[in-house]
Formats: sequence, C-alpha cells, structure tokens
Amino acid sequence: MSKGKVLLVLYRGNEHAKQEKKLLGCLENELGIREFIESNGYELVATDDKDSGLSSQVDQELKDTEIIITTPFFPAYITKERIANAPKLKMCITAGVGSDHIDLNAANEKKIAVTEVTGSNVVSVAEHVLMTMLVLVRNFVPAHEQVKKGEWDIAGAAKDEYDLEDKVIATVGAGRIGYRVLERLIAFNPKKLLYYDYQDLPKDAIDKLNQASKLFNGRDNIVERVESLEDMVGQADVVTINCPLHEKSKGLFNKDLISKMKDGAWLVNTARGAICVAEDVAAAVKSGKLRGYGGDVWYPQPAPKDHPWREMQNKYNAGNAMTPHVSGTSLDAQARYANGVKSILNSYFTGKRDYRPQDVIVIDGDYATKAYGQRNKK
Ligand code: NAD
Repeated sequence: MSKGKVLLVLYRGNEHAKQEKKLLGCLENELGIREFIESNGYELVATDDKDSGLSSQVDQELKDTEIIITTPFFPAYITKERIANAPKLKMCITAGVGSDHIDLNAANEKKIAVTEVTGSNVVSVAEHVLMTMLVLVRNFVPAHEQVKKGEWDIAGAAKDEYDLEDKVIATVGAGRIGYRVLERLIAFNPKKLLYYDYQDLPKDAIDKLNQASKLFNGRDNIVERVESLEDMVGQADVVTINCPLHEKSKGLFNKDLISKMKDGAWLVNTARGAICVAEDVAAAVKSGKLRGYGGDVWYPQPAPKDHPWREMQNKYNAGNAMTPHVSGTSLDAQARYANGVKSILNSYFTGKRDYRPQDVIVIDGDYATKAYGQRNKK
C-alpha cells in the first residue's frame, strides 16, 4: 500500500530520450526521480496524456493524486475544474519557473500549495532572449535560409539587418530574468536600458549596470525606471517581456499597446504566450508596425499547427524568431530543475515543509510571492 500518488506530466522524448540520458525532463527519464519517490513509499505515475478531454490520463489520475508535477514546456493546465475533481491534491510542483498554467486562485481556495524551482533556468532564458534579439535585429533567419538554398543575395538579407549597439532596450519585468538580460546587454553598448516593474530594482543592482556601462562603453546612467508602460514602449527600439502571466499581464500586448510602440520596433517574449494577443502581434509584424517578433512561448502549448506565429512575416519575409518552448529547458537547466523538484519533494515527504521561500508561489490559501501581480495580503 503506497502512502499516496505522485503524478508527473512530461513531454515524450522518443528516440531523443534514448540518445541523450541528460534529457531528464522527458517522460522516459522522469526527471530521474522514480527511485527517490518510491523509496519514500509513494507511487509514481508518469504520463504525457494531458489534453484528450475528460478521459485524459491526467484527469483520471487526478482523482486520487496527492502531488502533481508539471512543466511549463508541456503544461497540463490545472484548471479550477480539474482542481475540483482532485480531492486529495495537496501540492502542485512546477519543474521549472512559471506556474500560470495552474489556476492559482482555485489552488488557494482549496489550500493546495504551488511551488516551483525558482531560478533554475533564468540564465538559460536570459541567454535565449539575447539570442532572439540578435537573430531579429541582425536578420539571421533569412540569411541562414539563403545559405541552405545555395543562394548568395547579400542585399536581400542586409536590407533588414541592423546593429544592437546604440539601441534603446526595454524590459517589462526586472526580476531574475529581466535583470540578467540587462546585465548581458551591457556587452552590446546600448544607448539606454529601461525597465517597467512595480517592484524596484535595488540601488546596488542599478549601480552595477551603470558602472559596467561607464567602464566598458563610456556611457553614464544608462538604466532608467519608467513609471508608465506606454511611455516606455514608445521609447524603445527593442522590448523584451520578462514578467509572469497573471490577471494583469494577460493580453497586455494587444493592438492598443503595440500602437504605442516605436514604428519598426522588435518585440521579444520568452515569458508567456498569453501576455501577447497572438493575432494583434501577427498583424503588427505584417503591417511593419513591428519589424519582428520572437520568443519561445505560445498559448496553448503545444501550439496548434495554424497558430499565426508559425508563419507570420514582415514585408521582407523576415521578422520571425519563434522556437518551440525550449529556452528554459537546456540540459543544464533540466539538471537544475530536476534537482529542485527532488528537494521540494524531500521537504514534503519528511514533513518538514522547509521549502526555499523563493520556491513557494501559493501556500495555506494565499500568495507567498509578490511576482504574480500586485494584490492585497489577506
Ligand atoms: P521573477 O519573479 O524573478 O521576476 C518577475 C518580475 O516581474 C517581478 O519583479 C515582478 O514584480 C514583475 N512583474 C509582474 N507583473 C508585472 C507586470 N504586469 N508588469 C511589469 N512587471 C511585472 O521571475 P523570473 O524568474 O524573472 O521569471 C519571469 C517569468 O518568465 C516567469 O514567471 C515565467 O513566466 C517566464 N519564464 C519563462 C521560461 C521559458 O522557458 N521560456 C523559463 C523561466 C521563466
């Protein structure tokens, strides 16, 4: 008789799982935690069947699951309805960062804890953001496609190619990822780095960026906090979104806000797909309002075959730097979030519940983090 059930929802690795054992985040490799879970007297059920309606394995297993582990990359959406049908559920663990695929308010109503492995992939994402900016600004994709097709049309690629140097770059959200993006951008000698966040960056964090800019680029005071999002996007050549998805950020980048952006700006979103209105972004790329859009997050995931971001292009058949949701799931990141999940489980199994405070999103019926929107404490 097991003490309880742990349900693990992961994408299938198929032949890749056989090729690379470090792919811990796929169904076949189960985050490397089966033995640990079973040695603690719990049963582990792993599945990738999350979307097939009420008969999906996730829906069936949730009826007597105590802990569910999901990832943002291949999210099982833990809706209010699913929570209502999971009477034994005590904890949702996100293997990664970002628990918006769980209805956090519904979890609070049932006093279900939601935890994630904070920080586990923030470097991975920051690197992807920098890469995406460069891919867009330097117009990499069309140039690379030429090479594969045996072509040599320099003008065809260069007509949409710029430098990142001397640009104004703005982040929506200056937390762990947003700040790391700003840090890495210093190497590209930006004109200004702007941020919009209801939480202040600490003074020493701003000083560090300004000093590095002065030292390496000879530019003073490049970091600026902007109080109004509209003002900020109106000044920026490149905007990067690095805030969580919650009630206030859902659909934030819609036709209206995009109309306030500089003409021909680039938009990079590795935060969550639903922060942008997909059709509005695709229309803005097509019209040239946005010179390009890139990132790795979509809604829903997996993205449907006809999702507008798969095919969108600007007038030069460029301006699309989309990938599947891979930024936070490098093999280095997988090792970190697999380890983090194990630590959270260990705290739970031992009854100590001594989670790292930064890993706790909601607990005992309330939000433990300030990152998922400004809200009054109960
Ligand atoms: P974090 O908690 O360290 O920082 C988030 C920041 O966003 C906080 O400072 C918060 O105050 C701010 N914020 C919240 N709502 C805002 C809003 N409406 N406008 C402006 N700022 C707002 O989190 P993090 O580790 O930097 O991660 C941020 C998000 O990135 C995650 O919640 C997740 O959605 C996403 N993410 C994506 C991947 C990926 O693989 N693509 C991986 C990790 C995280």
